[in-house]
Amino acid sequence: MRALIYCRISADREGSGLGVDRQREDCEALADKLGWEVVDVFTDNDLSAYSGKPRPAYKAMLEELRKGRAQAVIAWHTDRLHRSPVELESFISLCEPLSIVVRTVQAGEIDLSTPSGQMNARIVGAVARHEIDHARKRMVRAHEQAAAAGKWRARRQVFGYTKDGTSTVPTEAQAIRLAAADVLAGKSLRQVAREWNEAGHVSKGSAQKWNASSVRRILANPRYAALQEYQGRIVGNGNWPQILDRDEHAALLALFADPKRSSRLGNERKHQGSGVYRCGICGATMTMTYTSDGALHYRCTASAHLSRQGEALDAWVDELVLGRLSRPDAQMTLETRDRDLPALQTERDGLQSRMDQLAAMFAEGDIDSSQLRRGTEDLRVKVARLDEELADARSVSPLADLVLAGDDLRSRWEALSADLRGQVIASLMDVVVLRSPRGLRRFEPEYISITWRV
Ligand SMILES: [Zn+2]
Repeated sequence: MRALIYCRISADREGSGLGVDRQREDCEALADKLGWEVVDVFTDNDLSAYSGKPRPAYKAMLEELRKGRAQAVIAWHTDRLHRSPVELESFISLCEPLSIVVRTVQAGEIDLSTPSGQMNARIVGAVARHEIDHARKRMVRAHEQAAAAGKWRARRQVFGYTKDGTSTVPTEAQAIRLAAADVLAGKSLRQVAREWNEAGHVSKGSAQKWNASSVRRILANPRYAALQEYQGRIVGNGNWPQILDRDEHAALLALFADPKRSSRLGNERKHQGSGVYRCGICGATMTMTYTSDGALHYRCTASAHLSRQGEALDAWVDELVLGRLSRPDAQMTLETRDRDLPALQTERDGLQSRMDQLAAMFAEGDIDSSQLRRGTEDLRVKVARLDEELADARSVSPLADLVLAGDDLRSRWEALSADLRGQVIASLMDVVVLRSPRGLRRFEPEYISITWRV
């Protein structure tokens, strides 16, 4: 039997034609199985199912059938062939007198030469429009294909990569790696943006200049971990070079997802004690402000009832921090942070591959959608928990850096940003500013209460 294959994809957004290739492959396999000879393949791409736009290939196919060049049509599903009941009716009136056989990969044989076959086709057509499950299956197939292909897909050049994605731009890739490590260590996104602008890195986005949110978009993008994303879902490995490790990527996502941690990413403190030192009268945090004569004072954020000389207080706290960190037992405080990174990563990979397996089983029809949902929900929760742990383990604390600095401790401390110094202080101790006697002009450490946390 001589057959024509008809393929169509309703919205092939990336224009890659992958969906059509898949349909065609499946249709050709069916023709092989039936022992039919494929005379021609007709393809309409990127046309909406209900738009009613003309389908040139479909028209050409009907013309071939009228001329008698084939006696059969193969399509992936009837909803590929007919977009509306009206189209189905005109197709039936063409096929009936010519005894044309229609076969579909998904719905089997449709015999349009008999009344019951025609009724079947009408029912299938009506059902197809509402068959969400089927649409989902098609999506999973598309995901699988994209994942299998692992192809670079980008509308314009992406920061860090050459235009075709085959290699990295070394200076940009290095900037991304450094920023990822810095942000995990507590640097603010705004600071990274500033540094990138100063270094002359150009954002490929519309804004050109970097800001906190464009930096965040870069660091959260799975592309940099060579992960293939499709419609917001990770569908597989990309075959382009990686700039960030998978676990670094996971750690960044967990960091951005955590409101506690991400709140500080935007608002970085300019003075180490802002939001760290507390008021001894009401317990509110303190912040640095200028007095009328231009001096810096920490002031209670809740009320005007307490303030203290800023530079002197910071210098006092600096000495306490340096004294504490140069003690031989300082390293003790770090040991509890150690976690077995490779083991965590392996566990995560295992869970991920089980999720992939479930998706594949669903695509093959071995399990139904509710089984897929139940299975993946459970796994997703576990993966999220591991990501949290990875994030904790990966966020190399600035404290660790200081403890390991040895003789360089003081210069390292002074080189840290006020924001990071504040974080270190907060992790080491509680600093509470106490009410001092009226008329005292000097800074007196005895009116500062220090409680060590470690
Ligand atoms: Zn207060």
